[in-house]
Amino acid sequence: MFRFHMGMEILLCNRLISIQGLCVSLSCVCGPHCSELGFCVLVMGEMETHDVGVGCMKQFHIGIAGCGPAGLSIALFLHRQGHRITLVDQLEKPQPIGSGLVLQPTGLAVLASLGLEDEIRALGVQIDRMLGHAHPSGRRVLDVRYDWARPGRHGLAVHRAAIFNVLFEAVVRAGIEVVTGATVTGVREGAEQCPTLETAAGRPVGPFDLVIDALGSRSSIRQQVWPQHRMRELPFGALWASLATNGGASVSGFSTSTLEQVYARSSKMVGVLPIGQVTSSSSTYTAFFWSLKQQAFDAWQAGGLDVWKEQVLALWPETEGLLSLITNVDDLTFARYGHHTLMTPHKGRVVFIGDAAHATSPQLGQGVNMALLDAHALDRAFAVAADAEQAFKLYARSRRLHLRFYQAASHVFTPVYQSDSRLLPWLRDRFFVPATKLPFVPTLLGHTVGGTLVPPGIETA
Ligand SMILES: Cc1cc2nc3c(=O)[nH]c(=O)nc-3n(C[C@H](O)[C@H](O)[C@H](O)COP(=O)(O)OP(=O)(O)OC[C@H]3O[C@@H](n4cnc5c(N)ncnc54)[C@H](O)[C@@H]3O)c2cc1C
Repeated sequence: MFRFHMGMEILLCNRLISIQGLCVSLSCVCGPHCSELGFCVLVMGEMETHDVGVGCMKQFHIGIAGCGPAGLSIALFLHRQGHRITLVDQLEKPQPIGSGLVLQPTGLAVLASLGLEDEIRALGVQIDRMLGHAHPSGRRVLDVRYDWARPGRHGLAVHRAAIFNVLFEAVVRAGIEVVTGATVTGVREGAEQCPTLETAAGRPVGPFDLVIDALGSRSSIRQQVWPQHRMRELPFGALWASLATNGGASVSGFSTSTLEQVYARSSKMVGVLPIGQVTSSSSTYTAFFWSLKQQAFDAWQAGGLDVWKEQVLALWPETEGLLSLITNVDDLTFARYGHHTLMTPHKGRVVFIGDAAHATSPQLGQGVNMALLDAHALDRAFAVAADAEQAFKLYARSRRLHLRFYQAASHVFTPVYQSDSRLLPWLRDRFFVPATKLPFVPTLLGHTVGGTLVPPGIETA
């Protein structure tokens, strides 16, 4: 079904600003809360402002489920506004799972507004360029530079543990309450409609005035609140390793400021990303990833490391030094990807942010940045709204256009890099790099990877 949306609203200087635009979306048939494929185009710049209930919000006790980037950052924001926060996570000692990622100018701007930019910059690695080559031709088939959007612009590649540590230490410094070892199974409405978090151990946490679901893409709260909503599992995932390279011989052939990938059609992909340190005294790491179908994971495990290493070396012989650091299958973590978008990211006293509200493949590298932007938008909404219901609506509206564009773009680009298609990689290999010589295309690409092709609702570098 085709749908047309007009307009978006952003919050700026305590004013709600609506910008008229056009968003065309194609939603699938399984209901209003399912994923959708859309294209959003701003066609007019007319603006009007309305006063919103500045500073009228009372202080709440807010339960935040999930200590990922979304949960930790919204905890810091709302604690700063004077709300009482309780964070809840399943892990005994909250910690990140997985390898590296790229903080885009959008995510960096949110961390800057939390006063954490210098801390994360001290650990991460500046990334200026994304480069991809096709196998066996060796042809350059992806080449995007951040400074095509703006001079001096870059991303920051980080170990997932680095962003977690920086945010978690700030939570501890702020004295925010953290309940660990509590697997959340859903929410229950108690007296005066106050929600309580239910846990697998049967010990409820709460009651709260409001609950923020930041449980990630497989959120149990979302599954309970929106039982009809489905996440579409993507056929391809990836094996990831964080290799302690310390900038030594094993990585000497690789650029220290480039995300590099090699593809054989779209069915095979190997990538290398320098990601810096976890703490100021730790080793420096390089993230290494290999695209793998979900259904091929068991066969990969059964095949053993040597068989797999031969396949990687056939694609990209220069990775031999990095591969020598992988000595056990446990050095690799298999990440499964899914795609979903909640059309209404709130219901009653529960609001959804980060991957709980929307998730996609990491092809465009926006996930953590979207989670941070969600937290920033919800914070701004709380700052100007008269009550929680208005804040939730403002948050949803202010994120809508940016979110839909990047969900749709990820949906379109994912099969170009991860699929069994023959046509898409053929087109990619012949037309992508030549297209970057056309007027405006480099600027558009630079903004696309930086997360700013659609206004993100925060000032970026
Ligand atoms: C391999 C891989 C590479 C990626 N690369 C990038 C990239 O380059 N750039 C980018 O921006 N994004 C990337 N992403 C996406 C990014 O990691 C996610 O978008 C981001 O982590 C979402 O943050 P979140 O806080 O919403 O959820 P999560 O990071 O998933 O955090 C959820 C938290 O909730 C907790 N939790 C979950 N279930 C329960 C439960 N039932 N009870 C209690 N606690 C629970 C978890 O322990 C966790 O602490 C990548 C993702 C993967 C998998």
